[in-house]
Amino acid sequence: MTNVRIGCDGPHHAADASPEVVDSCLDPQVVARQVSADGTRKYVVRFPDGALAEVVGIPYGDPAAPSRLTACFSTQSGCAMRCAFCATGRLGLTRNLTAAELVWEVALVGRDFGRQVDCAIAMGQGEPLANYDALVDAMADMRADDGLGVKDLTVSTCGIPEGIRSLAADRAPVTLAVSLHAARQELRDELMPGVRAFSLGCLHDALAYYNATAGRYVVVQYLMLGGVNDGHNDLEALVAFCQGLDARVSLLQYNRVEGIPFVPSTFGAAALWCMELSDRGIPAGVNNPRGADVHAACGQLAART
Ligand code: SF4
Repeated sequence: MTNVRIGCDGPHHAADASPEVVDSCLDPQVVARQVSADGTRKYVVRFPDGALAEVVGIPYGDPAAPSRLTACFSTQSGCAMRCAFCATGRLGLTRNLTAAELVWEVALVGRDFGRQVDCAIAMGQGEPLANYDALVDAMADMRADDGLGVKDLTVSTCGIPEGIRSLAADRAPVTLAVSLHAARQELRDELMPGVRAFSLGCLHDALAYYNATAGRYVVVQYLMLGGVNDGHNDLEALVAFCQGLDARVSLLQYNRVEGIPFVPSTFGAAALWCMELSDRGIPAGVNNPRGADVHAACGQLAART
């Protein structure tokens, strides 16, 4: 593990996707803070070189004194993956964030809520597995008792097979969540052009390897887009994809993004899918969006200041 220092991280060798190496020796600044009606807080952070990222704090129970607190942190400033439904995907990639910057994001949420962060999720801006070394270093630091003491860590990825295999081989004590969003190859290629190079078969193999090597289940995330990926053939394709995997399906409700034409599926459609999946022996649930009114929900992050 690399020691992670908040606020002054030395020159960092970024992963291949990073356009530059940065040296952040000044404190980041919170340039915007918004509070949702449901108590979710969104922060826009500016790092010393001008790169922006967003962090979301999600309280459970009483927002003023939450019984549980989740931090959703960004791993990159912007994102190169260009997912068709996502506001961040339109920003393009500015750069990878350093391990220290990732830890700082989570510390920020704990400090603002005045309590320990229970769960940290790499699900903000960016593709976490495109910034693998910083992610792994940061999560070790977040988890450490003399660090932030975060109990649960989740990595949400578009599905980069090499990174999934590395997480498994490294026995990283995290929950792996894969954004599938379509189990038909042509549709997935359209919705998620950044992972077009990896076929669904290749992704399935990597997830099966993860199940066997890490000994952990995977969460298959499926964003339900009305009239796009919520047909009967889509459900059948999803069931087929889950065969042979220890997988739990999380059906996500889409949050509209200005200028992007997708609409959410009805809640009824999601509920029916959930029942159908359960009947076929695949555990499934429907996730309610949090913080949509301050553009803090999945797919809405775009560093608005
Ligand atoms: S959904 Fe995630 S991976 Fe896709 S463009 Fe948005 S931030 Fe990037």
